[in-house]
Amino acid sequence: MSYKADEEKYLLTVYKRYPVCIVKGKGKYIWDDKGKKYLDFLSGIAVNAFGHCHPAITNAVKKQADTLAHACNLFYTKPQIELGRKLISFLGCGKIFLSNSGAEANECAIKIARKWGRSINSKKYEIISFEKSFHGRTIATLSATGQKKMHYGFKPLLKGFKFAKFNNIDSVKSKFSNKTCAVIIESIQGEGGVYSADKKFIKDIEKLCARYNALLIFDEIQVGMGRTGNMFAYKEYGVKPDIVTLAKALGGGFPLGATFVKSKIKDTFTFGSHGSTFGGNLISCAAAIEVLKLLKPSMLNHISAMGAYLLKSLNALKEKHGVIKDIRGKGLILGAELSIEAGPVVLECLKKGLSINAVQGNTLRFLPPYIIQKKDIDEAMKILDSALADCSK
Ligand SMILES: *Cc1c(COP(=O)(O)O)cnc(C)c1O
Repeated sequence: MSYKADEEKYLLTVYKRYPVCIVKGKGKYIWDDKGKKYLDFLSGIAVNAFGHCHPAITNAVKKQADTLAHACNLFYTKPQIELGRKLISFLGCGKIFLSNSGAEANECAIKIARKWGRSINSKKYEIISFEKSFHGRTIATLSATGQKKMHYGFKPLLKGFKFAKFNNIDSVKSKFSNKTCAVIIESIQGEGGVYSADKKFIKDIEKLCARYNALLIFDEIQVGMGRTGNMFAYKEYGVKPDIVTLAKALGGGFPLGATFVKSKIKDTFTFGSHGSTFGGNLISCAAAIEVLKLLKPSMLNHISAMGAYLLKSLNALKEKHGVIKDIRGKGLILGAELSIEAGPVVLECLKKGLSINAVQGNTLRFLPPYIIQKKDIDEAMKILDSALADCSK
């Protein structure tokens, strides 16, 4: 394919791409350059939560692009303030820092945790993270990521990260000390293979954080913004994280990250502590304001209902195909662990007109847009059924 050869000439080949060039998207479908249509159960990795080119988002973006795309953060701008106000109305007392991506949202969280820890004592800088976690690709967020294969070649990494076993409170306890300034956790490890944290585990972590005077950071970059059927995933656990990071779905397809900090630490950063030229880009903010308007309670109910139906449908396929070992996740982030390689199944689905992806080599991940209906799930399951039959021969 010429795309492959051309990309290899001009772009660093860090992505293992599918042999398809996407040129158009509308709602729950995407099209390639040959006019072939795919049902999109990946949503640009949890980004296009309301499908492609949603009219409300597209109109807001066009209007903002026609008015002011960028002013720089030396000025006050209305879309940033409006977005901050809206996010705070959902997240509660605190403040927001706006950036451009998930990694940047976490980078900001790590810096705040360190600065806050150091304000208590100079040794309080350790952050506990988890095995199989994913927090981003910058050096600090890579250092926070609990996957050795991603660390390869980049050492020395940033000091001060400790990795505990997920869903194992004794392991977390063993990492805690008075040097701990924060715990960073995904309530569902998306890139790690779609593993959910137990309710008690998270509750116990919150207690440990209180005992050791450490911050609780929820990385909701993949699972926040309605993905699990709740506006934010932490609400399912009855805990109150000190920091919540958001990105992916937040910008409705435009680059945007947000770091929410609770009131108690809102003064940790002062003038000059942090910043970003593009952070809180006005077009991205205009899109995000529309995303928040679309996330009505009825939409959250729809996500839960569709999630339950997809889970049931995947479990039915599990009965039929011995190669499905486990189904995991919640709402519209679900994973199916296979006893065979997941990559060929993904490619077979693509050939048959369904876009999904694989994580950790053996797990199919489903991240459909929130606007799907039962008939779309039925269609996706038909394709998956046939792809699994082909691949397990
Ligand atoms: C995607 C993701 C990130 C990184 O976001 P980028 O926008 O790719 O930098 C961080 N944490 C989690 C949980 C993610 O899913």
